[in-house]
Amino acid sequence: MAHIEIVEVGPRDGLQNESTLVSTDAKIELIERSIAAGARRIEATSFVHPRLVPHMADAEAVMAGVPRRADVSYIGLVLNRRGFDRAAVAGVDEVNIVVVASETFAQRNQSATVQETVDACVAIAQSAREAGIKSTATIAVAFGCPFEGEVDPAGVLGLVGQVADAGVDEIALADTIGVGTPNQVRHLVAGSAARAPGVPLRMHFHNTRNTGYANAIAALEAGVPVLDASTGGIGGCPFAPAATGNIATEDLVYMLERMGVETGLDAASLISTAQWLGGYLGDEVPSLLTKAGLFPR
Ligand code: ZN
Repeated sequence: MAHIEIVEVGPRDGLQNESTLVSTDAKIELIERSIAAGARRIEATSFVHPRLVPHMADAEAVMAGVPRRADVSYIGLVLNRRGFDRAAVAGVDEVNIVVVASETFAQRNQSATVQETVDACVAIAQSAREAGIKSTATIAVAFGCPFEGEVDPAGVLGLVGQVADAGVDEIALADTIGVGTPNQVRHLVAGSAARAPGVPLRMHFHNTRNTGYANAIAALEAGVPVLDASTGGIGGCPFAPAATGNIATEDLVYMLERMGVETGLDAASLISTAQWLGGYLGDEVPSLLTKAGLFPR
């Protein structure tokens, strides 16, 4: 594959787990910097209850402050109807609807059963279509659950079929806690292509156990057109114990570029944003390019 699209999830997944509460202005600056680095799809925020995820309480203010451009698509994460309604009013271009692959995680993350998360996705996908908003269904804990351990891939693929039938524009498989391995990626991608032919796949990897980049390459080689990443490799899920960051956008871009795979992103610009972010958060970010730099000239 000569090109792969990277969705920048730093402003949402990246910041939601930080101990520092990031100001609305800093979130907007992160988004502006991501656009300057070439990002064209950005998961800007989530529309969840502020009591559950205080970091995202300013979702409306973030959306009101970001630059609106025809070539930039902003994604808002939603868990339910109320979240979708808020996202639509705030003017998101896309919604990312979370469906959960394990019962315990579904309870902890959104106080619902697995089937209730699917039912919500079906209803929201229809409303999104009517409102002219693109929809993605993200299947969380598709590679393993922090509470239940192994997640049956047949169950995940059953969910893929159900959300495809709901008419979502894209299906994302998320390794929420960073336990996945490349053989799982190959298996789930092949199974998803069979269950949801023609629906583009997107993969969401965390590098918690250093398998995130290997998984990204497995996805690329399996023909997945879209990967999530966060600048600096920050991030994690507040409802998953010991969760750590997404794969870092700059580290991923470095590897892909050296492989001749285009991303449209500028690694040097991403590195400077990651360093700025580390300064703001008062800690080194996990990415390695911020320390090692680009290929020597
Ligand atoms: Zn995540």
